[in-house]
Amino acid sequence: QRQPLVIANWKMNGNRHLTSQLAEALRESGALLNDVSVVVCPPAVLLPAWQSEVFYDDVHLGAQDVNEHHAGAHTGEHSLQLLTETGAEYVLIGHSERRQLYGDSDDRVRAKVDAVLAFQEQKLKVVLCLGEHEHERDNGETFTRIEGQLAKALANVSAAQLAHVVIAYEPVWAIGTGKTASPQQAQEVHAFIRNWLQQRYDAAAATVPLLYGGSVKADSAPALFAETDIDGGLIGGASLEPEAFLAICRAA
Ligand code: 13P
Repeated sequence: QRQPLVIANWKMNGNRHLTSQLAEALRESGALLNDVSVVVCPPAVLLPAWQSEVFYDDVHLGAQDVNEHHAGAHTGEHSLQLLTETGAEYVLIGHSERRQLYGDSDDRVRAKVDAVLAFQEQKLKVVLCLGEHEHERDNGETFTRIEGQLAKALANVSAAQLAHVVIAYEPVWAIGTGKTASPQQAQEVHAFIRNWLQQRYDAAAATVPLLYGGSVKADSAPALFAETDIDGGLIGGASLEPEAFLAICRAA
């Protein structure tokens, strides 16, 4: 009952030229993407360029981050209002690069989740990113880590609001390293997340899309997406190559 979902996270990459290239590739392959919902998260300044390229019902736009305040003295930040005006329907929150490099603590991640869900009658969807570090996996602390991140980020989220939440499991050791989690490793964590959501939210948990991210490529995507609780992917590097990204979308 969950529609497959593939999200491109361009990070601090891409430009206007790649915007036209990927948009054209998506437009041409529209029929091939039948049941798959595609979201592109370019750097925020490219959202207006993407907005003028969006044509096809199943291609949506997203932002890579947002400030938790509505407006004011926050130099360099972007507000929810502005991101929605430029076409964003999704916002990534708590990406490991934000957590590691830009000080997004668990408290700040929760504040951002709350701000997105409180915004204009839930016009936007949160894509909550979480995942363990390599040393945590080696020490058998993967599930403790995931559970801690879920509990903190979703502390104020109700069952009704859960309909506006997507969760992306991205093991930190697999991001940009070429080391993909095996389908079994990923499924095990996804099943753990689904189960945690079920205990807390009951039936509402069944509709939450759970995405896997971390070095997903055209050749590793099919086996990952075949797992029961893997509903799609959050794609970094491969989303910068139109052919590879389309192949991943078709695998979902
Ligand atoms: P890569 O696909 O480049 O490993 O990046 C994954 C990611 O962080 C997506 O958010």
